[in-house]
Amino acid sequence: MITLSTGIDEARLVKLLKDLVKIDSVNPSLVPGAAGEAEIAEYLREWMNARGMKATVTEIEPGRVNAVGVLKGSGGGKSLMLNGHTDTVGVDYMTIDPFDPKVEGNKLYGRGSADMKGGLVASMAAVDAIIEQGIELRGDIVIAGVCDEEFASIGTEHLMKDMRVDAAIVGEPTDSNIQVAHKGFAWIDVVTHGFAAHGSAYKIGIDAIAKMGHVLIGLEALQSILEEDQHQLVGPGSVHASIISGGQELSTYPDKCKLEVERRLIPGENREDIEIEMQNLLKSLSEDDPKFKADYEITFYRGPMEISPEEEICRLLQEESVKNGVEPRFVGGSGWMDTQIIYDKGIPAVAYGPSGKGYHGAVEWVDLDTVYHAAAVQAEVIKRFCA
Ligand SMILES: [Zn+2]
Repeated sequence: MITLSTGIDEARLVKLLKDLVKIDSVNPSLVPGAAGEAEIAEYLREWMNARGMKATVTEIEPGRVNAVGVLKGSGGGKSLMLNGHTDTVGVDYMTIDPFDPKVEGNKLYGRGSADMKGGLVASMAAVDAIIEQGIELRGDIVIAGVCDEEFASIGTEHLMKDMRVDAAIVGEPTDSNIQVAHKGFAWIDVVTHGFAAHGSAYKIGIDAIAKMGHVLIGLEALQSILEEDQHQLVGPGSVHASIISGGQELSTYPDKCKLEVERRLIPGENREDIEIEMQNLLKSLSEDDPKFKADYEITFYRGPMEISPEEEICRLLQEESVKNGVEPRFVGGSGWMDTQIIYDKGIPAVAYGPSGKGYHGAVEWVDLDTVYHAAAVQAEVIKRFCA
């Protein structure tokens, strides 16, 4: 039960969230021709400047814009970044009006309300409360509204080229829990090489598709092995085949077959481990069968992340949440998040945000009580972390 939300102007928070949901910011890399983040970034810039923050917008690619504002501290304190992505997924399949936010009870409906304009607004409302209350801090607070998290994360990637802070909160929806770990993933192309020949020339032809069958069986065996190693927060790693292609015509032995594989990594695993795993798999298959020839390539990689719940930012979130009436859990996530890009720079980063339903779905809403709670908790965390 949430009991209080000190210093947070709830009506102003709802107005801000409605404003952001009304702005179409569908990711154009997911939906060709979609709006992108320029308009919402401009809104954020104006909002931050109006509160005395030093805000800038940066166009990373045409129409793909970050808005970043800094509330300067007096110096000598620790700096905290509140990061939220401004892009959303598409809206074609939605059964509510995506850009006409409606409030019913404690739910606010609309695309991006939960993923993750609600979380971004919680962070903004926290900073708003700090400014309104005239609280003097030594450390800087950074609000980063970043583009493209739903596709390739060019926003946070660009931001972290030169952003240095002492900790970061990414306001993704976590049901008011503190997410300290999540999985990574690798996309891998595997190609088997056969020998093209007339369909009757069984002594000459080598069937690249049949050879890929051995790879598939190997991946299934690998999956069983991976399931034996359970990470306490995110469970086991996994591997699955995603797309397969090969062959030219019925009467010809296929000389090539390509399999696209996805491997999900748990904290503690890295790119090198995946390289070794693939090398070992293909090596053992070629030892069993001299006609087996294959190679692989990792085409995209995002690492896993994990920080200790003992980190100051985790401790403060936990303590302030309890004070505000909610006992949070330290959790892990199976999906990859921008947190990892920040973590990769040696900065403690957590995901922490409200509850909702229908992320990427037909009916999306955020629980406003949890948005107020996230705002109240972050305001108190800022006061202590940046003191
Ligand atoms: Zn998100």
